Amino acid sequence: MKLYTVTHQGKTLVCLEGAGGTLIPLPYETMNQLLRDDPDHRAQVLAQGASAPGELSLDQVRVLAPIPEPMQDVICLGMNYQKHKAEAEQFDAQAFTRDRGNAVYFSKRATHCPGPGDPIPGHFDIVDSLDYETELAVVLGKDAWQVAEEDAFDYVLGYTIVNDVSARNLQTGHKQWYMGKGLDGFTPMGPCIVTKDEFAQPPAQAIRTWINGELRQDAVTDELIFGIAYVIHELSQGMTLKAGTIIATGTPAGVGMGFDPPKFLNPGDLVRCEIEGIGVLENRVE
Ligand code: MG
Repeated sequence: MKLYTVTHQGKTLVCLEGAGGTLIPLPYETMNQLLRDDPDHRAQVLAQGASAPGELSLDQVRVLAPIPEPMQDVICLGMNYQKHKAEAEQFDAQAFTRDRGNAVYFSKRATHCPGPGDPIPGHFDIVDSLDYETELAVVLGKDAWQVAEEDAFDYVLGYTIVNDVSARNLQTGHKQWYMGKGLDGFTPMGPCIVTKDEFAQPPAQAIRTWINGELRQDAVTDELIFGIAYVIHELSQGMTLKAGTIIATGTPAGVGMGFDPPKFLNPGDLVRCEIEGIGVLENRVE
């Protein structure tokens, strides 16, 4: 099941995609409300919605990020694909330390997430090395506290695509990655949340990025060093992961800083992020 946030005639709607690509509005004002609903009640609402007739089609609406304003910052994993870890270390061995032995977690400020077709602000007055990172993002639908690894997927509602846009000069210049990853508009998301029942757990879907039509990243989402179940288990040992939590699971090799010389983003560049089964998230840098 695909869940969308859209606008239609000036109104924001939370919808599920029914048969033939039609959209069925759900009785929620925001995706956050859906995510924080009682899981049993939400399951009823979704089942009722799925059997209702479609009212709109995707080409009649503007698709926003599925969660335009996350309730909390996005939890991110750094260097969580082996080949990307190697390219990051090659770019800056001090900033991207080798062989930590533990997962690298960081927080990404996401005040407002651009949706499909929205511009990515480059902040070129303070950024000289703008980069892209296509990532599988996990969306939780239930509060998670001290979850066993084998139960972790019970807490997952579904998956979406996040572009973990990064300013490498700010990321490496400040010891922590918060500013370099958290500027306004640095968390494009979309086009929808796909519920977990549509995938294997963990999902093993092709993940790809094109810049102006050139294929840059090409991997599979089950190549993570620290897998989704492990991450939910480990973090929830000491922090409650509230329903609505978004976890960006890391990016594969092929980011701009991985090339010699680096291929950073410039104004006008078109970034196309794709995960098989979720869709395409395309944004132009401005
Ligand atoms: Mg990342």
